[in-house]
Amino acid sequence: MTESDCSIPALLAKNAARYSSRQAIASEGVEPLSHERLWEQVQRTMEQMNCLGIGRGDRVAIVLPQGPELAVAFLAVASVAIAAPLNPAYLEKEFAFYLGDLRAKSLIVMVGDETPARLAATALGVPVIELVLRPNGSFDLSGTPGTGAAQPGLAEADDVALVLHTSGTTSRPKMVPLTQRNLCASARNIGSTLELSESDLCLNVMPLFHIHGLVACVLASLAAGGGTICTTGFNADDFPGWLGTWKPTWYSAVPTMHQAILAHLQGQGRSIMESSLRFIRSSSAALPPSVMMGLENLFQVPVIESYGMTEAAHQMASNPLPPRLRKPGCVGLPAGPEIAILDEAGDQMEAGTTGEIAIRGENVTPGYHGNPEANAQAFHLGWMRTGDQGFFDADGYLFITGRLKEMINRGGEKLAPREVDEALLAHPMVRQAVAFAVPHPSLGEDVVAAVVLHPGADCTEADLRGFVLDRLPAFKAPSRIIAVPDIPRGSTGKIQRIGLARQLGAFLATAHEEPASPMEKRVVDMFSEVLGCPPAGRQGNFFMLGGDSLRATQVLTRLGRSLSLELPTPLLFRMPTPALLAAELERIQAEKELDDLAKALGRLSTEERAELLD
Ligand code: AMP
Repeated sequence: MTESDCSIPALLAKNAARYSSRQAIASEGVEPLSHERLWEQVQRTMEQMNCLGIGRGDRVAIVLPQGPELAVAFLAVASVAIAAPLNPAYLEKEFAFYLGDLRAKSLIVMVGDETPARLAATALGVPVIELVLRPNGSFDLSGTPGTGAAQPGLAEADDVALVLHTSGTTSRPKMVPLTQRNLCASARNIGSTLELSESDLCLNVMPLFHIHGLVACVLASLAAGGGTICTTGFNADDFPGWLGTWKPTWYSAVPTMHQAILAHLQGQGRSIMESSLRFIRSSSAALPPSVMMGLENLFQVPVIESYGMTEAAHQMASNPLPPRLRKPGCVGLPAGPEIAILDEAGDQMEAGTTGEIAIRGENVTPGYHGNPEANAQAFHLGWMRTGDQGFFDADGYLFITGRLKEMINRGGEKLAPREVDEALLAHPMVRQAVAFAVPHPSLGEDVVAAVVLHPGADCTEADLRGFVLDRLPAFKAPSRIIAVPDIPRGSTGKIQRIGLARQLGAFLATAHEEPASPMEKRVVDMFSEVLGCPPAGRQGNFFMLGGDSLRATQVLTRLGRSLSLELPTPLLFRMPTPALLAAELERIQAEKELDDLAKALGRLSTEERAELLD
């Protein structure tokens, strides 16, 4: 391995020379970027950012819509400074936290963008840089020129390239710096596990503010000289079309997405699907063996489950490609870093015994930024404790059995339950709050919360849900918020989140009530159609019935089509039952009718209007 394999700019420069006109980043409706043009973009970004006073060691937050620009912005910014892509779904308060925590030197947004990220940056005095697209798929960065970068030029192997936050045990997310060397090592590890080459083309459906999409889908492809097709967001209905148009050789996704793809294609009656795929990869949450088998049967290609983590620049273990054995329900063999199972004292345990999974290797972060306490807990004699529990079988395959950290893994999206507690505790009527995980068929885990209200408090679950959704993005908000007289405590008197699902299960049940209006019946039937389950009552909660955000989009698209209304997905997070959603649909419908009437009246003459209103 040479130094050119240890930094993103060196890797991209090498690709430009070696694979010049081959496709590097492509997407629908824009000209693909070849390796040569991608490298030109990096050089232009370097000049423009250096002129804006940004250089090596400066953290630059990126909030862009999902798509090729985000992939290229990540690569270009990481070649010159430190990229910190943030989830565009965050609320202004969260952007303020992240921008402040990062001490961001600037924020990159799409030109003309007026989102909460810009508002937060403006309030904090963080300079905003606008990304202006060129017609040929590349872009310029425009902002107020600075005094010149302290450290201009291209990044080097030991520079930090990427900073992401992980949901920790506390409500305060931990900052994970990943060096150029970490990222390139991980990209190489993934490439060697998947035998990637310049002939490979990945279909990216993963969000590009998460390590899975950034490293497995984009960087690993490029490190092998191949390319990535960047979709603008995942939608199971579009998936077969993407396969037909782009002919990718692989894709990587979280189990919830795989399940949605499988359900969509099986719903169309497909039993075998001809495609250009060589294999399918799954990571970031446990893949149910039934989904693995279902995909293998449908696509007739191997499904490779891998185990990843932000702190490891993604991949830690992976099942191998055939002819080697892949085991369902197992995350495979160490695939890059060394992996050990440690006991509480930090001593290594024998195969077959369960303990904490620990890793060490070139892909592992040097340590959390500005968090000595977290580092002292996580790092031990060169090993980094993952907070996951597992064991090695006799063949050296790793099985994950549980988790020591408090994080909830909602379909691959990680969240700290304490953050949810705090959002609920801000409500004046809430005395105690505790969020916990419940099993969910497509997400693996869903989030619910139990609250103890102040005596005489008068607020409904819908009130609390609305309150939380004003403070947290929808993917962190609990699907159910149940009022309980008391929250059970463990033997030490401490609230233990694990076990609450079983102890408070009775409070989650809802009595069956028949739909009370034609609109409620319509919603009940739509839930049943999308979820493939018998119709539930008017109080049935979509998410507790097995719904997730991907299926919420399907429900609202189909309802919107049949009612001629445009319905945004967040609606179902606020109104997750037929009773609530139907009332809102009726209100939106009545508003639209009034609007249409007003428009029609505007087109009439004074006499015609008087006649009509008579
Ligand atoms: P993230 O930092 O978002 O990538 O999340 C890392 C965590 O996701 C790990 O520590 C595990 O808890 C979980 N995880 C990742 N891959 C898997 C997998 N294949 N099976 C089960 N859990 C997984």
